[in-house]
Amino acid sequence: MLARSNSLNIDEFMQGLIKRNPDETEFHQAVEEVATSVIPYINENPKYIEHQILERLTEPDRTIIFRVCWEDDEGNIRTNRGYRVQFNNAIGPYKGGLRFHPSVNLSILKFLGFEQTFKNSLTTLPMGSGKGGADFNPKEKSEREVMRFCQAFMTELSKHIGEHRDVPAGDIGVGSREISFMFGKYKQLKNEFTGALTGKALEFGGSLIRKEATGYGCAYFMEEMLKHKGDTLDGKICLVSGSGNVAQFAAQKIIQLGGKVIAMSDTTGFVHDPDGLNEEKLEYIIELKTHPRGKLSEFADEYKCKFHKDKSPWSLKADLAFPCATQNEIDEADAKLLIKNGCIGISEGANMPSTKAAVEVFREAEILFGPSKAANAGGVAVSGLEMTQNSIRMAWHRDELEERLKKIMQSIHQQCINYGVEKDRIDYLKGANLAGFVKVANAMLAYGVI
Ligand code: NDP
Repeated sequence: MLARSNSLNIDEFMQGLIKRNPDETEFHQAVEEVATSVIPYINENPKYIEHQILERLTEPDRTIIFRVCWEDDEGNIRTNRGYRVQFNNAIGPYKGGLRFHPSVNLSILKFLGFEQTFKNSLTTLPMGSGKGGADFNPKEKSEREVMRFCQAFMTELSKHIGEHRDVPAGDIGVGSREISFMFGKYKQLKNEFTGALTGKALEFGGSLIRKEATGYGCAYFMEEMLKHKGDTLDGKICLVSGSGNVAQFAAQKIIQLGGKVIAMSDTTGFVHDPDGLNEEKLEYIIELKTHPRGKLSEFADEYKCKFHKDKSPWSLKADLAFPCATQNEIDEADAKLLIKNGCIGISEGANMPSTKAAVEVFREAEILFGPSKAANAGGVAVSGLEMTQNSIRMAWHRDELEERLKKIMQSIHQQCINYGVEKDRIDYLKGANLAGFVKVANAMLAYGVI
């Protein structure tokens, strides 16, 4: 038998991972961030080394790749690539969103699925991790084309999912319209009505608060971080990137908690409103961004404020930043600018929106940094509550769900403190990674070698 080393080394571990998964840069980035936090802990607890827990955690249970063929409005046959990465089901059925975007590839879905393992563990709910999607762009398509694509996609995906096996949800490019088309097809193919997808409309098994949950949770997480330092959101100047599902409801809750949102963005640039958004202006943005999607420059024209084409909002002076658009949208230079301009806190609504170098800048500056796996876990948490409601065939009230969401975000914050307390501050990144890791790792230990 080969002698196994009794300690893990981050560089050697990453070299092996990169060799096994060449060219998957986003996946490497996500793993390195977690491994940096958990390897010192693993080295103090050799049972995790003996059972190769980190090696097993970084290898998806399975990866399904399939052809999706559909017909466009002109009668042309179109082909896309569909994916489902079933990452880890140690603590519950695979759970994670579907993304439809031209940039979708295996690296991005593996990074998202891997992150989901820790995020879902933090929610306190019994959910494993997965992620999927296709390199399909719903933006340029007619309603009928989107429907035909979703149905073709589900024809294959339906073979691999189910309420006890794998429960996908939405993500970028997959909103309630796409979920509805896919759920309809699933129901038809299986001839049964089960909660195999979340993010459904209220009429057929959806949950109240689901569409608000990720954004609300992201604002609540910031509220908790500030509260722990004896501070509040009241009067704080806030930057929100994106203007999609997460950004809209992060902005709404920030405003409700007393913050002043002076910027939002989209793929064409950002809008700067020094007076701050109110409910009416935000409603305009939500309407504008509900299909067919408008551009934020229309908001700037309507409310006579400045639109900065092809720019992100990170150069503005603000107290708090909420990146809610996409991965790696804050780089090192942006991070330095935010700090220079007096930013004291980041709550990540998008998945991995800060590059590795940007995260380093935030940590060195010792500002409050709520990493995505903790700060945006509210969405999947309410998805978990949607699964529960489907199982018991009940629909909970809005107030009850919002209260549960708030409690879950508080519990995630507390877990970050439990595992991330340092001499004079909380290391939220380390806390989230470790708290998420321990639960899944212990479940894997209990199962033995499988
Ligand atoms: P949406 O598609 O609803 O919105 C995305 C927003 O970000 C849009 O306004 C889009 O602009 C903008 N955007 C996308 N890419 C870029 C880019 N490269 N540069 C600038 N702006 C960009 O997605 P969601 O709000 O659902 O998701 C946003 C992020 O949050 C993703 O990282 C997702 O994985 C994460 N997330 C989402 C959850 C959810 O419940 N929806 C749960 C947890 C995480 P435009 O309007 O021009 O398209």
